[in-house]
Amino acid sequence: MIDNRIFNFNAGPAALPLPVLQEIQSSFLNFDGSGMSIIEISHRSSWFDAVINDAVERTKRLLGLDDGFHVLFVQGGASLQFAMAPMNFLTNGRSADYINTGTWSTKAINEAKILHKNYSVVASSEDKNFSYIPKDISFNKDAAYVHITSNNTIKGTQWHAFPDTNGVPIVADMSSDFMSRPLDMDKFGMVYAGAQKNIGPSGVCMVILKKEMLDLATDEIPTMLRYATYASKNSMYNTPPCFGIYTIQLVLKWLEETVGGLEKMEAHNIAKGKMLYDFINNSDFYRTTAAPDSQSLMNVTFRLPTEELEKTFVEKATARGLGGLKGHRSVGGCRASLYNATTMEAVEALVNFMQTFEREN
Ligand SMILES: *Cc1c(COP(=O)(O)O)cnc(C)c1O
Repeated sequence: MIDNRIFNFNAGPAALPLPVLQEIQSSFLNFDGSGMSIIEISHRSSWFDAVINDAVERTKRLLGLDDGFHVLFVQGGASLQFAMAPMNFLTNGRSADYINTGTWSTKAINEAKILHKNYSVVASSEDKNFSYIPKDISFNKDAAYVHITSNNTIKGTQWHAFPDTNGVPIVADMSSDFMSRPLDMDKFGMVYAGAQKNIGPSGVCMVILKKEMLDLATDEIPTMLRYATYASKNSMYNTPPCFGIYTIQLVLKWLEETVGGLEKMEAHNIAKGKMLYDFINNSDFYRTTAAPDSQSLMNVTFRLPTEELEKTFVEKATARGLGGLKGHRSVGGCRASLYNATTMEAVEALVNFMQTFEREN
């Protein structure tokens, strides 16, 4: 731990790589020789152009994207994407398939409903409290897209392999596992991710959009809600969230140059998740809430024998410098978020604490 920094297991906003925070700190008063802070310079300046273009290029390199994709930065969080996707793509009576795997999927479905769009929920894990990822789904072959949530931040489940949709493009909310593993974009028409889980601060949402998908989008909606506006103006039709984009650029640089790419990142995430799941699975005191074949490497949700013990657990952990272990208020229990920036050292400290707590109780 450096300068009283805790081991941060928050679900979002969440831990960021320390070298990124240090670089922000050291360049904050004078960015790149400009004599100004990154939050003081014009978004029309060559300084900011270099930042946003580098963030786009690094994204394309990390994900192996060709020129068939747009990389966009949008405000309004992942929550605005719940509405923008149906607004843009569900025109002329076209319908979309949705898979409901928890709180965030439900919210995405609700927006299609509010907009009076055609959609069907083709699979749901609501019958078992969203503790698993549905299998053997049949899709409508004429759907405009299939919407999924790749990682369910609150329920602690994750798609380990993406469904075969018979060529219908997948639109995925990847807010809580974007850039945690390599991604084959062939199946996807669009991927979006609120930055504050795994790639930056809140206030900016990254959108990767296939150009063919953009061809289907309507322009009969307000300017700021059209993907085409962001695609044609390099995400700078209006003033973009400059600080957020700058932080994302530094996180992507860290992923490429320090971590060494998404395969290495995935291996590290698997090792961290394995350490914690192995410990919980060998314990009679703690138990996971997600089905074994659906467990998330990003958000490990678990219970203790009683709610009283869970409360004490979170309090004592916090006092020992292990923060953010309380489960989402809608489900209770405990949750350790192990995003990219969470170190193996943090997971070891957590497991040590869990062992001690089990012994003492
Ligand atoms: C946090 C989260 C959201 C909400 O993101 P906002 O940026 O706050 O709108 C949506 N989907 C998932 C999977 C999330 O984890």
